Amino acid sequence: MMSNSSLVSYTKISPNKTSPRNHIIDTITIHCVVGQLSVETIGDVFAPTSRQASSNYGIGPDGRVGMYVEEKDRSWCSSSSANDNRAITIEVASDTSHPYAVTVKAYEALIKLCADICKRNNIKELKWKGDKSLIGQVDKQNMTVHRWFANKSCPGDYLYRLHADIANRVNKLLNTSSEKPSTLKIGSKVEVIGTKYATGQNIPAFVKKNIYTVEQIDSNKVLLKEIISWVYVKDIQIIEGE
Ligand SMILES: [Zn+2]
Repeated sequence: MMSNSSLVSYTKISPNKTSPRNHIIDTITIHCVVGQLSVETIGDVFAPTSRQASSNYGIGPDGRVGMYVEEKDRSWCSSSSANDNRAITIEVASDTSHPYAVTVKAYEALIKLCADICKRNNIKELKWKGDKSLIGQVDKQNMTVHRWFANKSCPGDYLYRLHADIANRVNKLLNTSSEKPSTLKIGSKVEVIGTKYATGQNIPAFVKKNIYTVEQIDSNKVLLKEIISWVYVKDIQIIEGE
């Protein structure tokens, strides 16, 4: 089941795409825009068919996220059909010259977007070795860069050098979400942010997004008092102040 990121605040679907993609999503490819363009302007750039280019997402200097090609479709972004059929491509607004730096807001939004993409597409970990020979070997490396597929500096040295940091920070977000928060205790008010795991069942069941009280805590799941259902700790968020 492919979905799109809920972090998107602006959508302008580009005609420059192949629908649907022919491969599952198992890779992320980060690009630099070469211009501190807003998500709206990036959308305008990808709008004409004559442009023959697009990306799944774009991030503006203010940290807002735009979507130009849905995740179910292949963007025309990395000069490689094979790559773009399996990758989510992200254009990040950057300076127009070396090292093509991006703003702190754009960078922080990029980390969150990558973590969101991994979670929804069941990518357990982002892996970066900076090794072009590992293209397609996603068990060893599932981040790629445009410069491997075309004679370009993209994603620019600024973002290229930060790829290990991006992987580390995203993996931290992916891991911490499954750890039991130290503030979680019986009586805590929690909000269900994902689905599932109903009592006595091993199959996922839908739990309505709402605020519940923790009645019991197991290693990685909690029993919700109001509905007498277990949910995974990774699918809840502790409400502030409780
Ligand atoms: Zn690029």
